[in-house]
Amino acid sequence: MSRTRTQGPSARASPRTPIDAIERLCYDADAVFLTRDPALWGYAMEIEQKIDLLGEAAQYDVCRACGTHSGRMRDDLGRWVYPAVRPDGTRVSLLKVLQTNVCERDCAYCANRSQRDAPRTSFKPEELAATFDRMVRRGLCQGLFLSSGVSDNVARASAQMLATVELVRKRYAFRGYVHLKILPGADDATIEASVRLADRVSVNLEAPNAERLFALSRSKAFATELLASLRQADRIRRKVGPAVSLTTQFVVGAAGETDREILATATALYRDLGLARAYYSAFQPVRDTPLEELSPTPTWREQRLYQVDMLLRRYGYCFDELCFNAQGNLPREADPKQVWAWRHPEFFPVEVNTANREALLRVPGIGPITAQRIISRRRVATLRDLRDLGMGAASARRAAPYILLDGRAPTRQLGLWEGVGEAVAALDAAS
Ligand code: SF4
Repeated sequence: MSRTRTQGPSARASPRTPIDAIERLCYDADAVFLTRDPALWGYAMEIEQKIDLLGEAAQYDVCRACGTHSGRMRDDLGRWVYPAVRPDGTRVSLLKVLQTNVCERDCAYCANRSQRDAPRTSFKPEELAATFDRMVRRGLCQGLFLSSGVSDNVARASAQMLATVELVRKRYAFRGYVHLKILPGADDATIEASVRLADRVSVNLEAPNAERLFALSRSKAFATELLASLRQADRIRRKVGPAVSLTTQFVVGAAGETDREILATATALYRDLGLARAYYSAFQPVRDTPLEELSPTPTWREQRLYQVDMLLRRYGYCFDELCFNAQGNLPREADPKQVWAWRHPEFFPVEVNTANREALLRVPGIGPITAQRIISRRRVATLRDLRDLGMGAASARRAAPYILLDGRAPTRQLGLWEGVGEAVAALDAAS
């Protein structure tokens, strides 16, 4: 970004406090080079380095709504800003950052574990709140995703996070989106304060049950720290902030767990706690951790879990209908909805002119938007051609073998059915 001297720091009064220095840094990237006060220069640089270190450390907290490296901004000050989708579907850019990467715990997969030799730093609440405020004012981000290592203990680490968000909300009057991580074993007062300040709170279960978590972390207790915090967050948000959403995250593939185990737990959380989202993070080994020799989890496994998650949340499938292979995992060969259709020929064909929404959603290639479009269009006229459905060519080709149009199979139907027997046989062979 180019600025003239009259817009830059030299045209203003010297910064009087560290916060002034931070604000300058965040307002004008060239402030670092123009200030004549070496102490403040160093301080400002320190903030930039902290953003870099603690933004990078936060990437391990996936919360897929925040995207991955590929989607983040690469602008010099917005380097840890990610595109994200809010619970209401609107898009925002989130500053995703840790309060600190100092941690007393020792989770085997984590880059911030205490036993790992890595540069450590922390934000003071005032530093982080002021930095975030300036980034908002510059239009670099519209929301905050704040997590943290467990420095000292859970209570003190949580207090630092809450103090940051309090400043963001009160001193800087920020009314936008805040996602606040609840640390394992946080007390009730901390959980309640988090629910009151944030739009979304989360507790990462990391594993589907206590046995699997034990393979990942000896310093987290599944039932008493993680699940209990998630349950308590749900109780409190129902009482004081029902609009606040609740999420969790699983590390996939590091503990020998199956997709069946992960999805059974996710299903229970959706049912019992009204969980808004579960996030699935394919394990990637981190250097100098006990799991560094473990192979990374292929991203297709993460993708299959997200596809099933969508079926559970938006398509009306239940856990018992999911198709797993003999190892308890989702087949790689085809997406889970297609696999279900192959295994349930008795359900098809579906007459699109009369089928209810639930039945339409069972048809491969038909999602909620297309189902609604079909329901709207058939009120006006009988649907007799694939083009009447308002689908793209690829989706129409997938749907064709499974539907009737006013009692008649689409013309392509016979040809496409021919491959189904082979596909199911291949799937069975892989199981
Ligand atoms: S508690 Fe575990 S996962 Fe969280 S930062 Fe510390 S070592 Fe990493």
